Amino acid sequence: MAVPLLDLKAQYAAIRSEIEPVLKQVCESQMFILGPGVVAFEKNVAAYCQSKFAIGVSSGSDALLACLMALDIKPGDEVITSSFTFFATAGAIVRAGAKPVFVDIDPDTYNFDTALIEGAITSRTKAILPVHLFGQVAPMKAIMAIAKKYNLAVIEDACQSIGASQDGIKCGNFGTFGCFSFFPSKNLGCFGDGGLITTNDAALADKIKLLRDHGQNPRYYYKMVGGNFRLDALQAAVLDVKLKYLDSWHAGRRRNAAIYNKMFAPCKAIKTPVTTAGNEHIYNQYTISVPRRDELQKFLAEAQIGSAVYYPVPLHVQECFADLGYKAGSLPMTEKAAGEVLSLPIFPELTSEQIETVANAVLKFCS
Ligand SMILES: *Cc1c(COP(=O)(O)O)cnc(C)c1O
Repeated sequence: MAVPLLDLKAQYAAIRSEIEPVLKQVCESQMFILGPGVVAFEKNVAAYCQSKFAIGVSSGSDALLACLMALDIKPGDEVITSSFTFFATAGAIVRAGAKPVFVDIDPDTYNFDTALIEGAITSRTKAILPVHLFGQVAPMKAIMAIAKKYNLAVIEDACQSIGASQDGIKCGNFGTFGCFSFFPSKNLGCFGDGGLITTNDAALADKIKLLRDHGQNPRYYYKMVGGNFRLDALQAAVLDVKLKYLDSWHAGRRRNAAIYNKMFAPCKAIKTPVTTAGNEHIYNQYTISVPRRDELQKFLAEAQIGSAVYYPVPLHVQECFADLGYKAGSLPMTEKAAGEVLSLPIFPELTSEQIETVANAVLKFCS
């Protein structure tokens, strides 16, 4: 039985009858940029995220950039972040003109090893940018304590983790800003690119609204230099329909993860995802760690089972960051993870038969 890594058609089939009319409405209005549909979605998603403010933007990458701009992060500044993440996390820091400073990860969660953060702080450090990788919130209590001690801003890269919580608090509410992505493969995905910024600070929310529209207010009067970081009405319409289903989709992913965890438990060679106490994981990815990862991936591909490596090459050894001076060996846990992780199909519409097919194939290879 073929099992794809992700099948968005299954999700679309279930909600097509609701999506088509709202898309038609936007088309009939011919009002595509911001507008009432975006405002309505922002209100609903702010409530969902338990944040005072939610501002729709063009992508998760631009969300990160806009937040760095709002905090006046500039050339000469340093921002502490993870190297084991999607490129945009560090890309945004460089686009803002600042320097990413990479800290190694906890091999159990792939999130920040908070014991290493203080050692990376210098007189130029302005912010900490933790990533909530794969759907699990980074250890925010320790991160916020360090940020407070050194008077640093915190921008949460929550692009993979909308709805995930820690000690009952949803991500995007710990730091100054939370950044989210609606890239189609995220748990809440739109029909193209889209993103979101959450904050509980009214002045910063206003500043983000200015920045996403070139710094303009009123029309043709520019208070600062921003960008075109706007969320469009078609995406907001899709997202507002999907938002109602998000918690049930998260639950489906958790149910699937529990099946894998149980089936993999007897096998010592497979390291299953570790959820820290107090965390509610949303499993944007279900990522195992195995020693002969590349061979396993090939074995699964031959059985027509989809899988992916997030991420095969850490950011600190990317060609475009060579001038930062990191070398292979600089971040041992990050590099080890890059060689061993494999993400398996976890999307909510998977049947139990499909999950068992994947799990049995992994177990067969590992035995
Ligand atoms: C997806 C993602 C982004 C970027 O989001 P886009 O909407 O694709 O620009 C940033 N950081 C992380 C961790 C992501 O997973």
